[in-house]
Amino acid sequence: MTAGPVAAATSAGRGRAALIGLAVLAAALAVPAPSPADAGEDAGERLAQGPRRGPGERARREPAERPPPAAIPYFDVHNHLNARWPTPGGREEQDYDGAAAVALQAMDALGIRKMLLMPPPFPPGFRHAYDAEDFLPLIRKRPDRFGFLAGGGTLNPMIHQAARAGGEVDEALRRRFEERAEELVRMGALGFGEMTALHFSFDPATHPFLAAPPDHPLFLLLADIAARRDVAIDLHMEAVREAMPLPEGFVSPPNPRTVAPTIPAFERLLAHNPKARIVWAHAGWDNTGDWTTALSRELLARHPNLFMSIKISPESRPEHRPLRRGEGIAQEWLEMIAAFPDRFVIGTDQFFASPRAPRQIGPTRVGETARFLSLLPPELARKVGSENPRRIYKIAD
Ligand SMILES: [Zn+2]
Repeated sequence: MTAGPVAAATSAGRGRAALIGLAVLAAALAVPAPSPADAGEDAGERLAQGPRRGPGERARREPAERPPPAAIPYFDVHNHLNARWPTPGGREEQDYDGAAAVALQAMDALGIRKMLLMPPPFPPGFRHAYDAEDFLPLIRKRPDRFGFLAGGGTLNPMIHQAARAGGEVDEALRRRFEERAEELVRMGALGFGEMTALHFSFDPATHPFLAAPPDHPLFLLLADIAARRDVAIDLHMEAVREAMPLPEGFVSPPNPRTVAPTIPAFERLLAHNPKARIVWAHAGWDNTGDWTTALSRELLARHPNLFMSIKISPESRPEHRPLRRGEGIAQEWLEMIAAFPDRFVIGTDQFFASPRAPRQIGPTRVGETARFLSLLPPELARKVGSENPRRIYKIAD
């Protein structure tokens, strides 16, 4: 668990001016405080909101963050809206405008020029799954501030259903998968996301464990479609070099006792179609101990089509985070980004909630990312914050 934002800013040596800035931003952000944990909430709602907390922060909630803005306007390529929730009567309510207003407030306060939204990676057969159709009207209202990726609510469940069933992927399934992917691109998706090949459950009751080989035939097909249509793939995947026992802090079930390797098959996916731009989501958020800068550098060197979106969040392994408490950016991260300046983007992975949604869990962690950018040398900040996302996702404006 990290210290509060004021302590973090002070320890970074920002001093009095920063504190005054924080007070102004606190008013501007006006982020509702998270409500206390409630064991009885609905699974669908929780899944749409993402994990509430990680293994390292089971018992505590964070205060709303009041950070300094980044030094440059930037693009944040991986976020979600919590704008859809089931009612007690079994129906569903939506409030995308309300959730977007909350996101816009945070964006304006932090200097985020444009945000890419996407559905989380849903499991097969999930009743409250949603995809791009839900938030498209909002995107069309604010194309200046939002873009989107899609497939987390449709393509991802198809992959996992096929992986669970095992055996050959037949022609009919391939065709259905391809038609849906094409449809999402026609809608304006800048990529396919959020997809997952290995997703740990942070909460046995409500947050799913999902695993499918990264070189599953449908992932390979997705790479071919992405290459052909010149869009990106956003992939959530825990780093596992060799089979390992379930990392400490996670519960089995629903997680398995032994976790199968992901990296060898991930390299086969990357090599399958070098024209497919694959963004490995949540770099800096290591939950296995294997996602070191050494691993990232190895893969980046071998696969020019690999990119990484940086997520800075307090529940992951502290030794592999890009920001070290009281020290600013870790030297190994600075060196890696300098060595591969065209391969990193920012994806904070927040859930911006409608004020009407029964749960108000965020955003609470967006500020660390803004701080990270402000600590990068200006030339790297410009690339990571702006040039790279424009190029990788083909953002026109
Ligand atoms: Zn994710």
